[in-house]
Parts: sequence; structure tokens; C-alpha cells
Amino acid sequence: MKRILLCAVPILLLLAACGSKPTETKQSSSSSSTVESQESSQHQTSTSSSASTETTTETPQTVSGAVNHNGSYYSVEGKYGEVIIVNKKHPLASDYAPGENPEAKAAFSTLQADMIAQGFALSQSYSGFRSYETQAGLYQSYVSQDGQANADRYSARPGYSEHQTGLAFDLIDASGNLLEEPTAAQWLRHHAHEYGFIVRYLPEKEGITGYMAEAWHIRYIGKEATDIYESGLTLEEYYGVPGGDYE
Ligand SMILES: [Zn+2]
Repeated sequence: MKRILLCAVPILLLLAACGSKPTETKQSSSSSSTVESQESSQHQTSTSSSASTETTTETPQTVSGAVNHNGSYYSVEGKYGEVIIVNKKHPLASDYAPGENPEAKAAFSTLQADMIAQGFALSQSYSGFRSYETQAGLYQSYVSQDGQANADRYSARPGYSEHQTGLAFDLIDASGNLLEEPTAAQWLRHHAHEYGFIVRYLPEKEGITGYMAEAWHIRYIGKEATDIYESGLTLEEYYGVPGGDYE
């Protein structure tokens, strides 16, 4: 688990879906995929993917697996609106740079403050939006250090990081590392949905998400986060979309 930490000096280790904080020390390993086919790319004009404050009438859970593409990103139609999908089979356009999503950021700040108030050793800093260019630099540095095959196990290629949507956040602990402390991680796993987030990369789901478990990486969904959490499924499984490794 900490192989990189042990054998490489504290260099900027940036993770997978994650990584941009100074002291990231984890390594993600992705097992290979389980995925099926291609999704159709239809056009869809979209609105924001956040839906936490919307009130909408109940509709059946989405499990259709219909993935849309609007030129910038892939998405599915969730219960309360569009949900952006980013994984190793669904990249973002290189010029897609929405910045930090304000609704997601507000929800994140509340979650973070609540965790700190409860005594978890959490930093007030975090890692959120990351541009295509930033991710390209990170990924390239890993490839240079470690070779592409290894880099792909823990660092997203540019265009494939969920952080580029502005909807993903990494929690940082009080020591400046990605949050891993088991009690805090457990709390996050079971309460993130109350703030509209899901813990995106669950244990034992590497073959589906394409990434090793990341206790610290949460993705803003909005209200439907609770449905997803209660299902116990990954985002890919819940919406029935392909994930796993690169094509
Ligand atoms: Zn992350």
C-alpha cells in the first residue's frame, strides 16, 4: 500500500483520480476492468449536475445505462437531473474547465467543518478542481518517474480525472496527507451522502471504478447521493455505465 512512500522520497505523489496535494502518499492499483461496451454518444445540452437542493418528483431509479455525450463530457440522466460520468472509459474534453462547482464547494465546506467540529483530525485545506493541464503535468511526472504502466495504476491520464469536473474533493488530514484515518474514513463513508457526496472509489471495486479504494476522494452528486449510498453500489454500477480500465 505504501510502497511508493517507502521507496520514493517524499515527492509529490499525486494520485489517481486524486492527487494534487503536497503529501499524497498513496498508491492506487487498478485491476482490470469488467467492462462492456461502448455507450452511445448522443447530444445533450446540459445543465449543471448538482441537484442537492432541487425538489423533484420521484422517478424510478436510473439503471438504464444510457450515456450521453455533449462534446465536453459524458453524463447520465439521474433522478434529479444530469450526472456527469468520468472514468477511464469516459474522458472529459481537454478544454472543459468549469472550475470549482459552487454548490459542491459549499456542501464540501459544510461537511469539512462538521468533521472538524466532531474532532476528526482534518485539515482545512483540500484538493478540488484541477485543470486538464494540471493533470497532464502530474501524470507526465509520474510516467517519467515510474513508467506509464505503473503511473496508470495510481494517476489519471489528463482528461480522465474526476477533479476536472469541479465536483470532486480530496480530504486532507491534519498532517497534510490524504485522509485515511480509519475512524474518519468510516464516518465519511457513511455520512458523505448527507451532504450530497459519495465516496467514489470503494474497496473491492477496482475492477469497476478503475481505481484502488480512495477513502479521501468524494464526488458531489446532490440528492441522489443518498440513493447511491444506500444501494451500496459504485457510481458505475448504480447507473449501469462502463468503467474499469482504459480501452
Ligand atoms: Zn481525488
